[in-house]
Amino acid sequence: MAETNKDTAKGEELDEGIEVGVHRLTPERIQTVINSVLGAETGARFKAYIQTCIHCGLCSDACHFYLSNDKDPRFSPVGKVKQTIWPMIESKGRVDADFIRRAAQIAHTECNLCKRCVQYCPFGIDIAYMMSMVRRIIHKLGVTPLYLQDTAHSHAATMNQMWVKGDEWIDTLQWQEDEAREEIPGLRIPLEKEGADIMYSVIAPEPKFQAQLIYQAAVIMHTAGVNWTMPAGMGWDNSDMAMFSGDNEIMGRVKRAHFDAAERLKVKKIVMGECGHAFRSVYDMGNRWLGWAMPPIPIVHAIEFYHDLLKTGRIRIARKYDKPVTLHDPCNVVRGGGLHEMARYVVSQICEELVEMHPNREHNYCCAAGGGVINCGPPYKNKRMAGNRVKAEQLFDAKSRGAQTLIAPCHNCHSGLHDIIHHYEIGLDIKFFGDIIYECMEKPESP
Ligand code: SF4
Ligand code: SF4
Ligand code: SF4
Repeated sequence: MAETNKDTAKGEELDEGIEVGVHRLTPERIQTVINSVLGAETGARFKAYIQTCIHCGLCSDACHFYLSNDKDPRFSPVGKVKQTIWPMIESKGRVDADFIRRAAQIAHTECNLCKRCVQYCPFGIDIAYMMSMVRRIIHKLGVTPLYLQDTAHSHAATMNQMWVKGDEWIDTLQWQEDEAREEIPGLRIPLEKEGADIMYSVIAPEPKFQAQLIYQAAVIMHTAGVNWTMPAGMGWDNSDMAMFSGDNEIMGRVKRAHFDAAERLKVKKIVMGECGHAFRSVYDMGNRWLGWAMPPIPIVHAIEFYHDLLKTGRIRIARKYDKPVTLHDPCNVVRGGGLHEMARYVVSQICEELVEMHPNREHNYCCAAGGGVINCGPPYKNKRMAGNRVKAEQLFDAKSRGAQTLIAPCHNCHSGLHDIIHHYEIGLDIKFFGDIIYECMEKPESP
């Protein structure tokens, strides 16, 4: 059996979600859950990965955790598999509670499910998928990190991850509409407008902490003359932390509410704000769990939306952003969604100068926040910072070549990179595309 890893546990606070869950485990329960998930929820793809891997380690240098932890083999992608799913399979589920504790820590806090390693494996073995299966087992054993579990439960109870009450949601939109009308009279945030072209959806932290992003989106929509709406009720929050907690049942409920809102409003498509994991939940995981290979209604990420508005001239830039920028390619919209060239088109239209990070596009390093890792909360912050030293080095390099502002078109990346910039004292501003577009676009004349 694997021992609890004392080195990686150093500096971590106890995670109540994991500890309470571990103390409830029995050998019989562990064995039953592992064998039922492996038997009923995996298929040929999983078997092929397990049988094909030759333990060559070529995927190791792809992983930011491995590079940032001085190439400690325990952090290599295949090392994570060897410490989690392989022993579960080989022993037919006969692993102990300490093993499960360590498996929960590895799958939830030492892998961002960013899929960078998949690109470097000669056989295309998807280790992120295997870590997702570990998370599924951990979820069914009730050993999920507390903060992540709480977020998924909030979403299940209130249909938004931040427990925003119904009247608070409407009040926030009206407040942002009032504010924006002082700048642009006649601007509306149209609620429940049946037959609008676009339903705009956001993640719950926007009304809770970042209401200015809704303000900016409203100004962009109004200026571009978009026929848009937002749902007044369930389905407005497009985030989905249950996708990362292994709770596929809640993931499916949350996604269905999102798609149902669009169907109820009879819109032509959904436009999402700048969030990577929410995008993955509609094109990859949530839709597939519900039985749709593709989303049941067209959905575009904000990058594509801004790209189209700028390309068609519906948004015009009054003066370009004059500080040199560097661009973080979020894995869920770039490796997963292929939006890297559209993002560069947007940069070229709104900024004077782009200083590319290296590596970039689909080879970019993850922010270390994604895959629900940042949502595992404060007990793991130090580990998260140590686990992405390579990102800090990448940002220092871009800064040394002149970059002053970092654009991160993903909420989780934004938060994770914000932490890295502060922790390593890098000294870069961080912005969304929407911040810069709002700042630099031509707007209707103020009174
Ligand atoms: S998915 Fe990303 S974080 Fe996980 S092992 Fe692969 S490269 Fe590392
Ligand atoms: S996942 Fe691929 S690259 Fe990594 S050890 Fe296995 S075969 Fe080698
Ligand atoms: S938060 Fe951003 S870079 Fe990090 S895993 Fe998500 S999309 Fe990828």
